[in-house]
Amino acid sequence: MKYVFVTGGVVSGLGKGVVTASIAKLFQFRKLNVDVIKMDPYLNVDPGTLNPIEHGEVYVCEDVWEFEPALGYRFRIAEVDQDFGTYERFLDKNMHPSNNITSGQVYLSVILKERIGEYLGKTIQVIPHITSEIKKRIRAVAQRSKPDVLLIEVGGTVGDIEAMPFLEAIRQLRLEEGIGNTALVHVTLIPFLETIGQFKTKPTQHSVKVLQSSGLQPDIIIGRTKSELTQDVREKIGLFCNVPVEAVISDPDLDVIYKLPLHFESQGLGDHLCRILQLDVRCNENALIEWQEIVNLYTSIRGEVTVLMPGKYTLIHDSYISINMALDHAGAFNRVKVRRIYLDTELYDKDSKKFYELLESADGILLTPGFGSRGVEGMVETARYALKNDKPFLGICFGCQLLFIAFAREVLRLKEASSTEIDPETQHPVVDLLPEQRVEKFLGGTMRIGSHPVRVLKDTILYNIYGSEIIHERFRHRYHINPKYVKLAEQNGLKASATDLGGEVVNAIEVVDKTWIIGVQFHPEFKSRPHKPSPIYYSFVRELVKRKSIEDSRR
Ligand code: GLN
Repeated sequence: MKYVFVTGGVVSGLGKGVVTASIAKLFQFRKLNVDVIKMDPYLNVDPGTLNPIEHGEVYVCEDVWEFEPALGYRFRIAEVDQDFGTYERFLDKNMHPSNNITSGQVYLSVILKERIGEYLGKTIQVIPHITSEIKKRIRAVAQRSKPDVLLIEVGGTVGDIEAMPFLEAIRQLRLEEGIGNTALVHVTLIPFLETIGQFKTKPTQHSVKVLQSSGLQPDIIIGRTKSELTQDVREKIGLFCNVPVEAVISDPDLDVIYKLPLHFESQGLGDHLCRILQLDVRCNENALIEWQEIVNLYTSIRGEVTVLMPGKYTLIHDSYISINMALDHAGAFNRVKVRRIYLDTELYDKDSKKFYELLESADGILLTPGFGSRGVEGMVETARYALKNDKPFLGICFGCQLLFIAFAREVLRLKEASSTEIDPETQHPVVDLLPEQRVEKFLGGTMRIGSHPVRVLKDTILYNIYGSEIIHERFRHRYHINPKYVKLAEQNGLKASATDLGGEVVNAIEVVDKTWIIGVQFHPEFKSRPHKPSPIYYSFVRELVKRKSIEDSRR
């Protein structure tokens, strides 16, 4: 088994996840099995309790992992770093939650094991105990999935204090695995100074020095740049960073991210890595063509539709990255670009004129997932607007719950209707805690998470979309549509179009006399792939295209 480590330098947010996924793709082009680990230096056990504004979206895996840090202690983990979405989309492979190794998990294991008495008589230290735990976790993934190549991306930037034990663990692992079995890729920023018209390599030189001072010599430098690196710059980086010039690779801005593996391949990165790893394999032309065909879908776009995305985490667009990608996939298969307008719903209270202008301007509304009460009235209002104006509407998770609240207020005339998450004392708790959640005392890893089977009811729009009675989708929620209100809603024009297998938890709703107003309790975006769009996103975008062409032909 071969290991490829990926570190980042100079600044965060370089798109290291896309680079890692693209490198993994190069091995898939060679018909090798790959798996990817992400090591996150923060002390949270998993990102589930993080606000998406901190680290981007919380991604949800298919499987739930029973994490046992020490004998007798168990935690459920399915919530992982957003990079896992990138890995799944590029590699078309479901990732296991144990592939996300956080400092929180590592320290928790070591400290609990100390309490149990596993290290009796010893002083517990970062080296060797923390580093050994990190290596153990990496090898456990290798053991479980037995890939030909295991890629390991280190979160953050070299030089961060929290990341040091991870870098030390990598140094030890490289030594233990021996020459020809590991490679180290360093991704850095190479700024272009407009005023003097030059690429600047100094930040890269400094970050490679930091790596070297941890005993790590990179084999490959990937330069994140505005445009293609020139030969002289590559030579300079090679010389100062101690790598051959063919190991300095350009990672310029691209219009379609799925082009990156092809861009790397054309620079010889795949073959170069295989030489370092002593892998005697050739690139498979068919695999390359297959990927090129996927890329072509994204470059042959004809029209445009706009989707308004009301929400509360609109400050950074990565908060909704899987939704953005699912819309792109659905757009490509409908041959349109989906332009997204993020709407911070606190605008509803601040500037309602602008708020309604935005609602009107969009072709459709996608009400986003979320938690808590900030900005929530504006979110409900977007659903009410869709109901009143028969605007295509897709509510995801919280967005589905808020659609139900809007329906209860608008159609059932329950003016006080709310969710107990928003207003614990509400007269009409039309959205309430899931029964099994009442006993939960803590907030980490205790939601209903991971993939669950869903029963889709016949004679619904949803059934037409999925064409199947049993589907599997991923969930992440604590609250649900209160079954006590479903009958009344169904007598007044709403349909519960999907439930769990027991029929107790409503998993989707649609509004009967409206064209396309749907809410889903699950997150279909997590399963959307560049070559296989999520059926519901596809149908949503198709509806927008259809309406737009009708409108255009009327003009
Ligand atoms: N806050 C809601 C719940 O816990 C919705 C969660 C979400 O949108 N992922 O049920």
